[in-house]
Amino acid sequence: MNQPIETDALVIGAGPVGLFQAFELGLLGIQSHIVDTLPYAGGQCIELYPDKPIYDIPGTVATTGRQLVASLLEQLKPFKPAFHLNQQVNALARQADGRFLVETSANPSSANPSFLTQTIFIAAGVGAFQPKKLTVHGLDIFAGTQLFYHLDAQADFADNFVGKQVTIVGSEDTAVEAAIQLATLPSNSITLLHRRDVFNAAPDKLEAMRSLIASGKLQLRIGQIAGFEEQQSRLTALQVTDVDGKTEPLPVEMLLVLQGLSPKLGPVAEWGLDIERKQLKVDTEQFQTNEPGIFAVGDINTYPGKKKLILCGFHEAALASFAAAALVFPDTPTLLQYTTTSTLLHQRLGVTHS
Ligand SMILES: Cc1cc2nc3c(=O)[nH]c(=O)nc-3n(C[C@H](O)[C@H](O)[C@H](O)COP(=O)(O)OP(=O)(O)OC[C@H]3O[C@@H](n4cnc5c(N)ncnc54)[C@H](O)[C@@H]3O)c2cc1C
Repeated sequence: MNQPIETDALVIGAGPVGLFQAFELGLLGIQSHIVDTLPYAGGQCIELYPDKPIYDIPGTVATTGRQLVASLLEQLKPFKPAFHLNQQVNALARQADGRFLVETSANPSSANPSFLTQTIFIAAGVGAFQPKKLTVHGLDIFAGTQLFYHLDAQADFADNFVGKQVTIVGSEDTAVEAAIQLATLPSNSITLLHRRDVFNAAPDKLEAMRSLIASGKLQLRIGQIAGFEEQQSRLTALQVTDVDGKTEPLPVEMLLVLQGLSPKLGPVAEWGLDIERKQLKVDTEQFQTNEPGIFAVGDINTYPGKKKLILCGFHEAALASFAAAALVFPDTPTLLQYTTTSTLLHQRLGVTHS
């Protein structure tokens, strides 16, 4: 096995609270690594309501899920946390030296599929978001080569689809947006496949989709996937059954399944932590679980009076950071300093005064 990454703090979950957790740790001089199952940061804000307004972030009259996440990422930049996306934290175990060995779902041959950390911050929200998959037996062997469950925000990801016969499966915002984005790539053949001619997206997106269909740049296919065809271990076609029960092949080189994501508490429940109705029990002074050094913040935790609000998660993250600082720097008391006036915090934030 490769050597684990050694760190003082590991944040599990890159939702709004996990991101702010890393910021608060950075202010106290603790560098962190952040792991998330999704290929991008943002948790529920990005996955469930990217363009809906949020009106109760302190000091911000209105923002959207997407804008809030962009601001949190910008705010976090000075601390340069390392993101490990597309991987789920599966297991953690305390080692003889008191640190935790944390294992993720990253391919064991990848550089570092595990971490050795002094403190852990579980900011896992409602659980790891996992894509709703197609229930077509055997199709998953094409995952990662011809079958994808996210349209990755990375600029070069869409290049994989240029000039290819692409089928997008789904009916919600993400599927409609991907269809619009890919239909504008050069010399593409893009098909949007859904079992009914009913789509759920913002009106402007639906209008753009219908106009691409009308102009022939986007094909619409109504039906259900009954099976697939392959040649020399390559996916070549889907067998699609239409509303009249007739099954015909739909040639495909790239398949993008965007049927939404469902959260799964998954491994968090198996780490031996005190749990109550699928939430981790914490104290309200340090937001620590029953395991010293493991904190839980945001939607994943519970305590008397808990409210699942972003601003509550931010408060929890601030207090958990101070508690962690006492573990990471046992010989140096961590004093409260203001970002307005502290030279040390200005240095850490990279703030220069003219
Ligand atoms: C429609 C809607 C509207 C909302 N509006 C508001 C609002 O107006 N104001 C407000 O304050 N709140 C609102 N909320 C609630 C708010 O979104 C949540 O309180 C907030 O997202 C919680 O943040 P979090 O970081 O704790 O968890 P999440 O946002 O759920 O993020 C958790 C992250 O952890 C990852 N994860 C989980 N398990 C693992 C694992 N084992 N390994 C790796 N990664 C893992 C997940 O993939 C996810 O990305 C709304 C929620 C919804 C659904």
